[in-house]
Amino acid sequence: MKASLQKIYNIFKLEAANGFDNRAVIGGLDRICNTWEAEARDDKLPEELLVIIATNLRDYPHLSTGSRKDVLEGLWRRIQKETGINLELDFSKVKEFKPASQDKPHQKAGTISSGKIVPKKSTLQSSEKPISLSTPNELITALDAPVNVLAGVGERHAQTLAKLGIRTLRNLLYFFPRRYDDYSQLKPINRLNYGDEVTIIGTLDSLGHRRVREGKTELIEAILNDGTGALRITWFNQPWIAKRLQVGTQYAISGKIDQYLGRLHISNPEPEPIDQQMLTSGRIVPVYPLTEQITQRWLRKLIHQVVNYWALRIQDHLPDTIRNNENLLHLSDALQQIHYPDNFEKLKAARNRLAFDELFLLAFGILQQKKHWQNRSGRIFVPPTGWIDSIKKLLPYSLTNAQNRTLDEILQDFGSGHPMNRLLQGDVGSGKTIIAAIASILVCQQNAQVALMAPTSILAEQHYQYLRHLIANIRAAIIETPPEFVLREENIALLIGSTTEGEKQKIREKLINGEIKLLIGTHALIESPINFSDLQLVIIDEQHRFGVSQRSTLREKGENPHLLVMTATPIPRSLALTIYGDLDLSIIDELPPNRQVVSTYILKPGDRERAYNLIRREVEEGKQAFIIYPLVEEKETSEAKAAVEEYQRLKNEIFPHLQIGLLHGRMTPDDKEIIMECFRNGEFSILVSTTVVEVGVDIPNASVMLIEGANRFGLAQLHQLRGRVGRGGAKAYCLLIPQDFLDSENERLSVMASTNDGFILAQQDLEQRGPGQFLGLRQAGFSELKFANLMDILLIEKARKQAQELLANDPDLSQNQYKHLGQELASFWDGGKGDIS
Ligand code: ADP
Ligand code: MG
Repeated sequence: MKASLQKIYNIFKLEAANGFDNRAVIGGLDRICNTWEAEARDDKLPEELLVIIATNLRDYPHLSTGSRKDVLEGLWRRIQKETGINLELDFSKVKEFKPASQDKPHQKAGTISSGKIVPKKSTLQSSEKPISLSTPNELITALDAPVNVLAGVGERHAQTLAKLGIRTLRNLLYFFPRRYDDYSQLKPINRLNYGDEVTIIGTLDSLGHRRVREGKTELIEAILNDGTGALRITWFNQPWIAKRLQVGTQYAISGKIDQYLGRLHISNPEPEPIDQQMLTSGRIVPVYPLTEQITQRWLRKLIHQVVNYWALRIQDHLPDTIRNNENLLHLSDALQQIHYPDNFEKLKAARNRLAFDELFLLAFGILQQKKHWQNRSGRIFVPPTGWIDSIKKLLPYSLTNAQNRTLDEILQDFGSGHPMNRLLQGDVGSGKTIIAAIASILVCQQNAQVALMAPTSILAEQHYQYLRHLIANIRAAIIETPPEFVLREENIALLIGSTTEGEKQKIREKLINGEIKLLIGTHALIESPINFSDLQLVIIDEQHRFGVSQRSTLREKGENPHLLVMTATPIPRSLALTIYGDLDLSIIDELPPNRQVVSTYILKPGDRERAYNLIRREVEEGKQAFIIYPLVEEKETSEAKAAVEEYQRLKNEIFPHLQIGLLHGRMTPDDKEIIMECFRNGEFSILVSTTVVEVGVDIPNASVMLIEGANRFGLAQLHQLRGRVGRGGAKAYCLLIPQDFLDSENERLSVMASTNDGFILAQQDLEQRGPGQFLGLRQAGFSELKFANLMDILLIEKARKQAQELLANDPDLSQNQYKHLGQELASFWDGGKGDIS
């Protein structure tokens, strides 16, 4: 037997013989755990096993004699199982069950015994301040023990829990309820009123189902009886509900009391078989998300154990000052209250605390990153005197004030000696491209390289053409005036998904020998193995379409290159500062003067003919139109199919005399480009398309944007689509046709008709759909936010302010008091989230 195991065996044996009085080791069993852990590791004992043993030894002195027996017995069984040792120990000898000494505060938290923790209700309600332990690090490690250290959790359960993302005790502690049943406010059925939000407990008297609405809907009906009365419950199209219910069983049901034909009922609740233990406690009871093979009761018990023991022991990573300043709950309280709230006010306070944590960690990480960036050095690019002015003079228009200001800000960054890290935010059509173009040309002129990435090949191609024309024009004009202009059209290249292997090879060579100065492309820029010889500027257009890692991958192709990211999605400033807090912000808040407000109308599906008439009229005037079809199902194939079918119909039946083009995501990039080119030069009057033209596409001659199935789009997306027209100075129209004319949808869409201001629409969109989808934050790891509401500007600002102060005070969190915060920060930013820009 390995020495470390032999030692444990001897100790256990002696303890058992002594009646578990904690004297087998002088000073107590906890004394040996550190040295023993090291020895066991040298002996190559399974890591999990040795951690469990050490953890239990650490707690041993604080347990009652009975629990000590359970612990050692359980541990020995486990040791036998995992190491194959076939040596029995006699644990039967327990002298007396005396409670462990009362002076140990740990006792109050309940007791852990081979993971079996005896919950005590009083703990949950205790208002005691959490105890800080002498060895918090050890506790942290113990919290990372796998779930199967708990009694009753075997391999199968562990696997099932893993499906819920629960692998460790910590995961259990941080597995939060989906909702709560309020057993403290039970209301008898005969006292229910319309509109009440209640929890009711009763026996299921009957259960039946039938089909309604011409068989399209399955209706499940049940009657719940609590002795004072009976309440009708209905579910629509949720056949699985019936399978889970049993007549004669007691259930708890929470929800809002509704009324139908004068009778009270409740619809679509989630019934829970009642938990007798919880019921007698009369508290607010957590309801957790479940997966197959796990019952609410079982999971509740498990989490209850863990919360009961660990919540009190957990070290709060948030410094006291911040907690006090912002009047936040201690982490221990918050964790207890989030699982077992004393009342809804406490629950709110707990949520607030946890939300603050997320926002604070977010803000701190971002600000820290900004600081790191600011410390790096970047190449200086200063234009020769008069150079910028001479370029501006060659443009067919003069820049707006906002464009000029933005350009100045970029030039300042270029001259600062540190890498630029700038977000350029400007509404659709505000003219961001020319700013990016001038910055690119400046860098290329000084023999360095630029990479410009756009989300679609159509847009990449458009930028490519645009820059080639721009450079050709500048060269042509400059022939007469002296400044040496080295950049040529051949120095620009396009790299998209369809670029052939041969062309790619050429691009690779020319990137290395410096012949290519400006490379424009899609994701292909980061997916193909290409290297630059001297990349100094990275530009990302429509940055919200890209993931965080994609942006940093491109940036890493150079050494501290300048970075410019552009977006048309305006968001409230404080939100921007948090989400993009590592970036400096430039805002183009002014449209070029020739812009017309795009007149927007919401049409009933029956009014389509009117829309077609408008298109005919506009085409006669020499204008062009887009007709957009939405994603029909989640699949691109069906999206394409809808567009193809509609295209046939429009071509044959509606506009037989007009030239119509078709564009969708399933076409090859080459075909797409041919179609776009034909539309751009006027060969087609109408372009039938899916949303592939959503972003960036610039066809100044187009004056009508007809959007079918408009209700399927978010406002910001509709605004982007609308932004494709009205660019040429002529009157333009946006026609929205929802699929069904529902009042609610109509109301939502009418915001589009009421404003052309992307900011207002973005705000509305945020409110209607939440920020995740809207900002493309999922990719940025923000879906990790469980509690924080990105609309809660006040809390965001508080968190940011505290983060700023702390950063100014101790940027690397080197002081000992911030050690836990540092660890928390590291785990929050773990896994690709570490780079937001
Ligand atoms: P976005 O900001 O949406 O990317 P673009 O850069 O595509 O907008 O510009 C939209 C259109 O406005 C383009 O046709 C561009 O040539 C034109 N434009 C840009 N700046 C000005 C300006 N200052 N005056 C007039 N037209 C401009
Ligand atoms: Mg653009």
